[in-house]
Amino acid sequence: MRIQTKHYIDGAFVESTGNERLDVINPATEEVIGQIANGTPEDVDRAVQAAKKAFPSFSKTTREERIELLNHIAAAYEKRKKEFIEVVTEELGAPLHLSERAHYQMGLAHFREAAKQLETFPFEERRGNSVIRKEPIGVSGLITPWNFPTNQTTTKLASAFAAGCTVVLKPSELTPYSALMLVDIFEEAGLPKGVFNLVNGTGDRVGNALTKHPDVEFISFTGSVQTGKLISKNAADTVKKVTLELGGKSPMIILDDFDIEIAVKIAVANIMYNCGQMCTAASRTLVPKDKVDKFAELAKKRLERYPVGDPLDPKSALGPLISKQQYERVQSYIQKGIDEGATLVFGGLGKPEGLEKGYYVKPTIFKDVTNDMTIAQEEIFGPVMSIIAYETVDEAIEIANDTIYGLSAYVLGNDKKTVEKIAGSIRAGQVNINGAIADYSMPFGGFKQSGIGREWGDYGIDEYLEVKAIIGIY
Ligand code: NAD
Repeated sequence: MRIQTKHYIDGAFVESTGNERLDVINPATEEVIGQIANGTPEDVDRAVQAAKKAFPSFSKTTREERIELLNHIAAAYEKRKKEFIEVVTEELGAPLHLSERAHYQMGLAHFREAAKQLETFPFEERRGNSVIRKEPIGVSGLITPWNFPTNQTTTKLASAFAAGCTVVLKPSELTPYSALMLVDIFEEAGLPKGVFNLVNGTGDRVGNALTKHPDVEFISFTGSVQTGKLISKNAADTVKKVTLELGGKSPMIILDDFDIEIAVKIAVANIMYNCGQMCTAASRTLVPKDKVDKFAELAKKRLERYPVGDPLDPKSALGPLISKQQYERVQSYIQKGIDEGATLVFGGLGKPEGLEKGYYVKPTIFKDVTNDMTIAQEEIFGPVMSIIAYETVDEAIEIANDTIYGLSAYVLGNDKKTVEKIAGSIRAGQVNINGAIADYSMPFGGFKQSGIGREWGDYGIDEYLEVKAIIGIY
């Protein structure tokens, strides 16, 4: 059992001021694997005071000192590769290969990228006899979800440390252990006391207290739109800066001139990634009308070879969803798809055969989906592909933009002009062309209700900085 009922405040694990505990469940077995404290507003206050006390000296560290620190963090992180893979698989249910290639790797990439960006980051700009300086914003509250637990904590932490900010992290109560592993890493890397503080607990207790706290200057949040709205309202009372990385309903536009077999491979891999629990999931697959049946048939064939099962089994391509609640949510969307007239091509309701224990779902494909259906408008957060037919490129663009979200979009096509036209017309923070691999130096974030602000690389660091104009100094 992983029992950690203390919080990490001012360089030490300390008892919570409350005695409420939260069970942590392994989604593959439905068994309790540990317990964490459900922190209190007093715990949050202690953590914020520690971060506030550490801020004056940490914010004055040099660029070189922070580069060295980030490099030490990356080195200490790398040493714990095996443990990260085990922990993420246990708390999230991600198959081992995914825990290694995505979850472990992304955490490392963010620390490395921040160190690299810091080498050339423009903290100062001269204008005539004046200067514009970017200075650390202050104590930052970081609130993260469960679906990419290492990626979301580390992108925030790497940017905050690069900028010179001190932090209080509240990780998701469903996946707290990969976040707790960071404590050892930061201690080994020599992070000064009070720069990093971690308070565990639920959103309505710890998250609320953090977003309302008058000494927190900035909140960086990743999670659902619903929570993002609440956080913005809470933060407004003390005029805090807020960045929000929220949901998505990202389109993948497959153009007529693109090899259909490759398109199927890319589209299936995308929507099945992390069992569909991905804010950037290409959850609307736009296919030329006359190719829909062939595409659906090929996608079905591909999924027949996608084994769902125990994440500890190297043969499993898909593990379980994170929780019972998430299982029920995905089931209800599959039911809505059926009720609203989409054609079920593969998968459907219920658990895959032989997997009664664990929050496993059947990877599912719908065709004949129209963009006004619930499954085309709401974020399912599960392995459910919705194929939408289009007749012209203009219609595809119109469908792609007909959503409250604007996180990502994907285009698969060979004609450069058409691809460029689509990339320029889609209202989303990221447009990925022909399955390009992730680039951690590129900004990540959304248009419309997918969020406010950007993470990753230099844009991520920028969010943790305030702008100061010193006029007439030279
Ligand atoms: P969630 O909004 O339920 O929870 C996210 C975090 O917020 C958790 O730590 C939770 O405890 C906390 N929280 C909940 N209520 C709060 C409150 N009132 N005040 C402060 N904090 C509160 O989201 P989730 O279910 O953990 O994650 C899934 C969602 O995250 C999906 O909608 C997904 O699209 C989104 N997401 C977005 C991105 C992105 O970068 N855009 C990345 C991953 C996930």
